[in-house]
Amino acid sequence: MEKEKSAAKQLEEQLLYKAPNVLDARPELKEKTWAYCEEYRQFLNRAKTEREFIEEAVVLLDAAGYRRYDPLASYQPGDKVYWVNRGKALLASTFGSLPVSEGVRINAAHIDSPRLDLKQNPLYEKGDLAYFKTHYYGGLRKYQWTAIPLSIHGVFVRPDGQTVRVKIGEEPGDPIFTISDLLPHLSKDQDRRPLADGVKGEELNLLVGSQPYPDEEIKNRVKLATMQLLHEKYGIIERDFACAELEIVPAFEARDLGFDRSMIAAYGHDDRVCAYAALCAEIDIKAPRHTTVTCLTDKEETGSDGNTGLASAYLVHYLSYLAQGQGADIKTVLAKSNCLSADVNAAYDPTFADVFEENNVARLNKGVVVTKYTGARGKSSTSDASAETMAFFTGILDRSGVIWQTGELGKVDIGGGGTVAKYVANHNIDVVDIGVPLLSMHAPYEVAAKADIYMCYLAFSAFAE
Ligand code: MN
Ligand code: MN
Repeated sequence: MEKEKSAAKQLEEQLLYKAPNVLDARPELKEKTWAYCEEYRQFLNRAKTEREFIEEAVVLLDAAGYRRYDPLASYQPGDKVYWVNRGKALLASTFGSLPVSEGVRINAAHIDSPRLDLKQNPLYEKGDLAYFKTHYYGGLRKYQWTAIPLSIHGVFVRPDGQTVRVKIGEEPGDPIFTISDLLPHLSKDQDRRPLADGVKGEELNLLVGSQPYPDEEIKNRVKLATMQLLHEKYGIIERDFACAELEIVPAFEARDLGFDRSMIAAYGHDDRVCAYAALCAEIDIKAPRHTTVTCLTDKEETGSDGNTGLASAYLVHYLSYLAQGQGADIKTVLAKSNCLSADVNAAYDPTFADVFEENNVARLNKGVVVTKYTGARGKSSTSDASAETMAFFTGILDRSGVIWQTGELGKVDIGGGGTVAKYVANHNIDVVDIGVPLLSMHAPYEVAAKADIYMCYLAFSAFAE
C-alpha cells in the first residue's frame, strides 16, 4: 500500500503541474529581491509621471556610461546608447556581438499611468472656493480618486518657449490637493447611483484654494488670488494653461506592505514595475549576443496613439537607423527580432474571486506572468503569441531559473484589456506579453509582491543575455 501511494505521488509530480511559490522555489534570492525592491520603491517616489520617469532614467543611463544615439556614428559590440522621444518615451540599446541582421531583442514597457489631467481651461471659482477642472486619463474607477491627498506634476510652456516645471504636493512641507466627496449623512441619493457613476467625470474637481483677493470689488476673488499665486511662483497667466500638461497623481509614497514586508503598495506600478525592470536589465547587460532595444513608451493607457505611443512609427524608425548603420535591410531585422512586451496583469483577489477563472489567473508570489494573448471577449485586439514563440520565451526563462506562471485577465465574458504587444507584433516581430500581477490595478494605490517584481527583472535579464 505504501509503495503504491508513492508511485501515485510520483506520477502526480511527473505529469501534473502546479506553479510554485517563488519564496519556496528560490528562497536564496530573498536578500537580492528585497534590495532590488527597495531601489524600485525609491525610484517610484521620484518618477510619478512619464516625463519624470524619463528624467530619472536618463540620470541612471548617463551614470552607466550610455551616450546619446547618433544614427551617423558606428558602434562596436558592448557600446551603450539611448534616444529620448520628446521627453516622454525612450529607447536604449547595448550593441551585441551579432549583427542586427540576426535580429534584436526588444524589451517594451509603458511609463504612463492612469491619472487626472487638467483641462485646457481648468481654473474656476464656485461657492467662494477655487477649483481645477480635470479630465481623467486612462481607465480608472472615479470614486477611488476622491478624499485622498493629490499632487500636481507637469509643465507649462510659456509663449517665449521657456518650460516651467511644476511639482507640488510631494515634499513634506508642500501643500496637497484633494477632490471632495459627500458625507454619508447626505449621500442617500448618490448612494443609489451605480458604482460606475458614484462620482462622475465632471465631479472630479480639484480643490486648490479658498482665500479671497482682498478687494470686494472683484467678482471671483478666490480665483484671482489663486492665479496671483501661480503667477508669482511660475510666471504664468490664465491662458498659459492652454500650453500646459499638468497631471494630478496620488500624493502617497510607495510603501512596504504587510507585517512581512513582502509587498509594495504604490501609485503607478502599472507599468513602471515592468519599465523599471526593463531599464535595470538594459543597464546591467554587458556583452549581449543580440543588440538590445529597451523601449519605454508613453500613451498606453489611452490606446498607444500619438507620437510618443507605440502605435507611432518611432520604434521602427529607430530600428531602421540601427539597420542602416550596419548596412542591413530593416525588413530582415524586423523578421528576426523578438520582443518581450511587459505589462502588469490582474492578480487573483480572494475577496472578488468570482471575476477570475481559477485555473488561468495569475497569483501574487508565483512569479512573472507570461501571457499568450490579451484582448477581450473572444481575443479581440490581441496579437496572440504562437506556440513556437511561447516555447522560445519560456525556454529562456526555464534555463535561467526564472519562476513564471501563466495568467489571463479574468473570466472570458467579463472583460479584458490590451497591451502594446500588438503594435510591435504588427511590424512582423515575435512578441510575448510578460508582467507582474497586481491587486487593485489602476487604483491610486496598487499592490505588487516583491518576489514577482524581482522575477520580472530576472526575466528581462535572461532575455537580454
Ligand atoms: Mn499597463
Ligand atoms: Mn494599465
